[in-house]
Amino acid sequence: MGKEWTAVPLTIARYRVPAQIVEASVCALRDGSAGTREWVILWQGRILDETTAEVTRVHVPRQNTGPLHFNISIDERLRLLDDVSAEGEFILAQLHTHPRQAFHSEVDDRLAIPKHTGAISIVVADFGVRWNGDFLATSVNRHLGAGRWHELRPDEVRELLEVIP
Ligand SMILES: [Zn+2]
Repeated sequence: MGKEWTAVPLTIARYRVPAQIVEASVCALRDGSAGTREWVILWQGRILDETTAEVTRVHVPRQNTGPLHFNISIDERLRLLDDVSAEGEFILAQLHTHPRQAFHSEVDDRLAIPKHTGAISIVVADFGVRWNGDFLATSVNRHLGAGRWHELRPDEVRELLEVIP
């Protein structure tokens, strides 16, 4: 057993994402959105060391969604948090679809589910219909703290998200 982490360290600079998690995310977003509504999924993961985290699981929360929004009830958020913390892991990232362009809206800034500094929020265009799992085709955003988010440049995306076999 490694060190037990009580929070996601601010120093995480790399997320290892197993290819099968990427694939599951592509399918969950495309199927959930069904070409007509926004859809959100969450990545659970564990901290490997001060600079590296690894995604271990995709969660598809119960959600109310429409063409321009998604909402997860407080009860569902708490249930998820309980499940994830019981395993000594964290919600590292959220991924959601937009009808057209991928960008982090003001609502996304305010209502992102992972809220820790460094949290990742990925937005997928076109209800995920065309997304093949290439993160360079998405909007990858990182929480700088205090509700401020930064959209990563392609070179930053490549540094941050490492797809592993
Ligand atoms: Zn959004």
